[in-house]
Amino acid sequence: MSFAAELAKLDWDQLALTINSKTAADVERALAKPKRDWQDFLALVSPAADSYLEPLAINSQRLTQQRFGRNIGLYVPLYLSNLCANDCDYCGFSMSNKLKRHTLTDDELSAEIGAIKKLGFDSLLLVTGEHETKVGIDYFRRTLPQIKPHFNYLMMEVQPLDTEEYAELKTLGLDAVMVYQETYHRRTYAEHHLRGNKTNFDYRLATPERLGQAGIDKVGIGVLLGMANWRVEAALLAAHLDYLQRTYWRTRYSVSFPRLRPCTGGIEPVSPVGERQLLQLICALRLFAPEVDLSLSTRESARFRDNAFQLGVTTASAGSSTSPGGYATPNDDLAQFDIDDNRSPQAVAEAIKAIGMQPVWKDWDPAYSGKI
Ligand code: SF4
Repeated sequence: MSFAAELAKLDWDQLALTINSKTAADVERALAKPKRDWQDFLALVSPAADSYLEPLAINSQRLTQQRFGRNIGLYVPLYLSNLCANDCDYCGFSMSNKLKRHTLTDDELSAEIGAIKKLGFDSLLLVTGEHETKVGIDYFRRTLPQIKPHFNYLMMEVQPLDTEEYAELKTLGLDAVMVYQETYHRRTYAEHHLRGNKTNFDYRLATPERLGQAGIDKVGIGVLLGMANWRVEAALLAAHLDYLQRTYWRTRYSVSFPRLRPCTGGIEPVSPVGERQLLQLICALRLFAPEVDLSLSTRESARFRDNAFQLGVTTASAGSSTSPGGYATPNDDLAQFDIDDNRSPQAVAEAIKAIGMQPVWKDWDPAYSGKI
């Protein structure tokens, strides 16, 4: 059975009622268990758990350090293009936004790779807008061989592709793909995705399954927090993760926590997620899924990130530019959204050391994968 079929059985309003009716006793029971199920997760993201943030954080920290040690894996996004054929009303790259559009030339790409290598990174996240003809599979076929020799771990956050295309990109060195559903609420999804291929909710929803079938090492999922009731979104995200772990058990998973940020033509969150709630969600997810990477981007403040690094987060971007060409030639004119943690990668690494943890630049050693 697909996840779409499982999702169809979960009623949004009923789920909201279930979460809101969780009690302090439910939260305490979930906290005391050695292994939590989905109902426990609902208790941990419920309003009743708000007054249990401290034990939640302590448990999350313990589980994270047991599994991952005191390490934070660092990566950096490389924006290849801000061309996009979709209209998402929360994103600066939307087709209808009047924005200078640019796709890196081969020379510009080489300059970006050089600038990023000087910063010390070995894990790279390639990002493009979603434009099938200009930055689609042909473009990736051409650019991956240029990029992969410089980075041990190569991730992508681009338009969803077919299984065979992912399988082909795997042979070119692709290790991981991030694909965020944005929202699991179909009507909200339709309201915010107005034009282009991304209007197809079901194709996007099935992308992690296609990635599992293609044998991609790691799949990143997430929702854009703030678009709809965040507690219900969290419940469905956890259900999605659980489905994927059961079905594609060879694949590793990561979860990201993007919150709506200001951008050109941007919208206001209808279900604002404060830092306290974000921390609750991160810690609850750690208790539900002790083995998944939890990732936090530079959308969040330095203060919040340094705190979250100690409590459950295991990977983070640093020193990010969201403009194509932004490392070799800083230029905010082309940017996707504002970032909050503006520290340099070295400053982030120093801050991680200052809290008694270890920044890890080389997240992936080919020796572990049996590739050498
Ligand atoms: S969110 Fe992605 S698909 Fe939507 S406009 Fe932005 S870049 Fe394009």
